[in-house]
Amino acid sequence: MKFGGTSMGTHDAIAQVARIITEHAAQGHRILTVVSAMSGVTDMLLQAASASAAGDEGTHFIMVETLRKRHHETADELVRDEKIKTALFDDLDGLLEGLNALCHSIAVLREITPRGMDLIASFGERLSARLLAAHLRDLGQDSIAIDASELIVTDDNFQDAVPIMDETRKRVQEYLVPCLESGMLPIVTGFIGATRKGIITTLGRGGSDYSGAILGAALDTDHLWIYTDVDGIMTADPRVAPTARVIPVLSYGEVGELAYFGAKVLHPKTVQPMIDRGSPVRVRNTFNPTHTGTLIQPQSEITAGAVKAVTAIKDVSLISVEGRGMVGVPGIAGRTFMAVARANASMLLISQSSSEQSFCFVIPSDRVQGTLDSIRRELRHELERKDVDRIWAKEDIVIITTVGAGMRGMPGVASRVCGALADQGINILVIAQGSSEYSISLVVAADDHVKAVQVLHNLIA
Ligand code: ADP
Ligand code: ASP
Ligand code: MG
Repeated sequence: MKFGGTSMGTHDAIAQVARIITEHAAQGHRILTVVSAMSGVTDMLLQAASASAAGDEGTHFIMVETLRKRHHETADELVRDEKIKTALFDDLDGLLEGLNALCHSIAVLREITPRGMDLIASFGERLSARLLAAHLRDLGQDSIAIDASELIVTDDNFQDAVPIMDETRKRVQEYLVPCLESGMLPIVTGFIGATRKGIITTLGRGGSDYSGAILGAALDTDHLWIYTDVDGIMTADPRVAPTARVIPVLSYGEVGELAYFGAKVLHPKTVQPMIDRGSPVRVRNTFNPTHTGTLIQPQSEITAGAVKAVTAIKDVSLISVEGRGMVGVPGIAGRTFMAVARANASMLLISQSSSEQSFCFVIPSDRVQGTLDSIRRELRHELERKDVDRIWAKEDIVIITTVGAGMRGMPGVASRVCGALADQGINILVIAQGSSEYSISLVVAADDHVKAVQVLHNLIA
């Protein structure tokens, strides 16, 4: 079971989490729990790190004080036993002092590396896991908090680390399995791992879902349940489309596409570790635990032509490379994409018109300048010869994606999707079909974001 930030956000929520765990444990299940930081804590930690890196010595003291107060108050409500309480407070204070010292040294150096960012970001989960484990002990359960840096071995790609599964599995089998077999309820920190040398890494924002799946796969689990603050994966972001409904069943492929194209409800890599094993994943609501939520499994029911969900990605820009001289010249697209990679920008969508006179792709907005510079450098001879006329970026756009396995090979879907937008006067800048054919993505102006999601959401029967 994995519980997200809102589920760990207050003492009432943590008590509810403990109820869910103990109820299922009482039915004879062995449960490994993975937790996120309390809501908002990771953001605050990253802000403290940035402020310190800017040489600001005061901000981190205020922020760490705020964190201390929130965790102390929560601990105070959750634990009655004096001995457990004292040990918990010592534990929390030890971490918070370490955090202050770390921020201080960053402020002195006036510099922070991705590695430093990961170390600071790791404190949120390390604090919250201790709160839940202490609460469970206070309830008479055998529970301990475990830092995932002891279990999940990753590469050193800080802030977006990749797990090394065979080594992770070895550790999980060695340390966790005996804990679980003895009836213990281990609480593991989400979001973090460590390199072989023990340097703390993180799996990217929202990465606790991924932690749950990595540990689940390493344990050969039968079920991974992701507990969050909505009833399941919905037909659209409920904040954008208020009429969004829970989707009862989705395939791994559909969920992969949904998460990749902006449905922030799950980390995009979550299903990957589960695919080999074919174990089902369920997304359900901590605060409405009798709701069955969304079941994610290898295949889903396919209704021909059906759109199941609509998502959007904001803060992206469209880069176009145009020129009549590109027709029939091999290699320009390939070299452009290498130049994009050198600028460390990942492409979310690519489209080429059949005339070969232009192609375009979407990247995160914060990478635009570096990417344009990199491509212009790569294609400088083509630009001089005027084979390429223009390399330019259009900002303030969004990618809107419709997802559904039944869209595979159904040409009518694209026209229905485009027609619905055209009827509302929404201009489509680019259209692209995902290679899996589970999705169709459209690029529209950022101003049309909400309207486009709502219009396409209306297509879902
Ligand atoms: P957690 O902290 O539990 O991981 P997140 O905030 O990461 O929770 O994800 C849950 C949130 O995702 C919901 O509160 C909802 O606002 C948002 N969301 C965006 N798109 C969707 C969607 N298609 N279905 C469900 N929730 C969505
Ligand atoms: N706490 C981390 C974040 O906010 C990981 C997570 O919650 O999944 O990104
Ligand atoms: Mg999340």
